Amino acid sequence: MQTLNLPSGPIEADQVDQPHHAVWALLESVTDPEIPVVSLREMGILRAVREGSSGLEVVITPTYSGCPAMGQMEDDVKAALAKAGVEARVLTQLAPAWSTDWMTPDARSKLRAYGIAPPPEGSASSACAHSTEPINVVQFAPQKIARYTAPTVACPQCGSENTTETSHFGSTACKALYKCLDCLEPFDYFKPY
Ligand SMILES: [Zn+2]
Repeated sequence: MQTLNLPSGPIEADQVDQPHHAVWALLESVTDPEIPVVSLREMGILRAVREGSSGLEVVITPTYSGCPAMGQMEDDVKAALAKAGVEARVLTQLAPAWSTDWMTPDARSKLRAYGIAPPPEGSASSACAHSTEPINVVQFAPQKIARYTAPTVACPQCGSENTTETSHFGSTACKALYKCLDCLEPFDYFKPY
């Protein structure tokens, strides 16, 4: 597959390329299968709509390789296109690797409203492995765990920073489970990577 010259970073609704604006607008209805309040564009997963050699192409980049929701996202994009009578191929591109820095500010506030503490902006690190090799289990080096100290994360329910990490691995490998010591609500923290 040819290497695409794709933009890096968040893609805001008013920045999408005009020739295919209708397709971008159509795909606003496709949300992250794990976070149904955030669109694939807002998550930074929808990367490009472009004219390819054999017609229209929609390019998506998974949040991490081996992401179990990847097939679902591709199917959802295809279904939304088909429903609107748009013929396009859906391409999955792994490089450059997705980063939490690609989430739009809207995605962060929607995550918080949904009860998930979003990663801080510009904080991408290697907290989650994102190898381009097909892997089913995200592996962490033991020395990284030994040095690890949980960051201070504000509670998405009440805003208190009096929170504690109860599990480094929450509902998915890329989230940690926290508990607020003020309102006592448990919540997921989307780790930056
Ligand atoms: Zn709280």
